[in-house]
Amino acid sequence: MALEKLPSNIRVHVVGAGPVGLLLTALLQRMEHVSVHLYEKRREYTRTRMVQLAPYLVADSVESYRADSIDGDSVEAIFDPPELHHGLTFRQSIPPDLMTLLKSWTLGFCPLNVIERAIGDLIDARGLQNVERKAALVTPEDAIAMLRPGDMLIDSTGSKSLLRDRLVPGGDGHEDANTHKVRLEYALVITFLYGQPYDCNEYCKYFKNAENARYKFIPMVHRTHYDGQVSHVTGIVNISAEEYEAMPSRVDGTWLRGNFPLVAQSMDRFIDCVKQETHGEILGDLEVVRIPLDLYRARNATNRQWLAAGANSHPFASSPVFLAGDSAIGSPYFQSISLGFECAMFLAGLVAERDLPLNDILDRYELFIYKQWLRVYMRSKMIKHNKDLFECLDDRLALLQKLHIY
Ligand SMILES: Cc1cc2nc3c(=O)[nH]c(=O)nc-3n(C[C@H](O)[C@H](O)[C@H](O)COP(=O)(O)OP(=O)(O)OC[C@H]3O[C@@H](n4cnc5c(N)ncnc54)[C@H](O)[C@@H]3O)c2cc1C
Repeated sequence: MALEKLPSNIRVHVVGAGPVGLLLTALLQRMEHVSVHLYEKRREYTRTRMVQLAPYLVADSVESYRADSIDGDSVEAIFDPPELHHGLTFRQSIPPDLMTLLKSWTLGFCPLNVIERAIGDLIDARGLQNVERKAALVTPEDAIAMLRPGDMLIDSTGSKSLLRDRLVPGGDGHEDANTHKVRLEYALVITFLYGQPYDCNEYCKYFKNAENARYKFIPMVHRTHYDGQVSHVTGIVNISAEEYEAMPSRVDGTWLRGNFPLVAQSMDRFIDCVKQETHGEILGDLEVVRIPLDLYRARNATNRQWLAAGANSHPFASSPVFLAGDSAIGSPYFQSISLGFECAMFLAGLVAERDLPLNDILDRYELFIYKQWLRVYMRSKMIKHNKDLFECLDDRLALLQKLHIY
């Protein structure tokens, strides 16, 4: 491999200024001898869906890092103690302006575009000259052409990643060149606003769906948030592949009632139960987004195969390329941003260790991404399994068929 270490003055191209690209930029911005070019195709941040960051992102001890009830044990099984300590040490080096924001987003819900704008504003407000933001739709050819030998390229362009399927020699952009995908289910993600405090737990989910034989609205535990005036409630209704195909990607309650009355009736029954309990009203309409719930990963999260192949005029043979955020791993069930932020922190930590051989940087990032994949794969399968059981709790035979003990 021609390039043995990252250059002492390094130019990093971050393509995609969604939450993960922005976080990476904010982390790299505070490092000496690093300059960042951040490219974004959108003119404005308009995604208003409510998201929350996982508390493990700001953990200050191994105990708090693995406090999650679903995968706390997996974390200890997958990661070795030095790896966990390494991650916690990097968190302690995160500048206070950024850490304060991260902590606030683990406490309650926040619109996605508020997170994007806040990190963008922080980058601008620091008044440092080492970040250049460019409004541009970057093509794969642009990305390849912008690389000078030794430059670093980070693809944080989201689930439809610009470079994921070009990261291996011969990968020509076809979806399976470097992507492994598991389709868990098709779902409607339904959000509504409610004019009273409303909190949800597993009992609530069960009893409010008691009359819903086929379509159950399953709000996430902790997926409701009261901001002093309204509760934001988000949950999932499982639908079939045929129903998914027959729907536009985004609809409202009126459309749902006219076209999928059985789904709408289940929603309305659930909401009636909420109203009987807390005597409030729905504010506005339902917001319904249909999505396939996919788990996927890049088999290679870096271009180390290009670099290992040696002498070649292709820029990927002389510059390291990394995938971060939804570009590298995608997961359903409201956990993806946290996973992307975790990977961004790890990658920034590697860039900070300037004496590491490039081979080590690439290998460590690949291993880290693979371990995060194991963790989120097991976590997502567990959530899906629990959902499947929940949906047939009153049908003992159906329930037993889903319980494979050995
Ligand atoms: C309905 C729905 C609800 C969700 N709810 C949650 C939740 O509650 N919690 C959670 O953790 N996650 C949630 N997610 C997932 C979450 O939104 C993503 O995990 C997160 O946005 C990924 O961040 P990212 O920065 O990796 O990618 P993205 O957010 O996709 O950002 C990629 C950025 O790259 C830009 N870009 C793409 N291509 C190019 C190009 N060629 N040139 C220049 N710029 C480009 C895009 O404009 C975008 O700004 C939800 C997703 C959906 C669809």
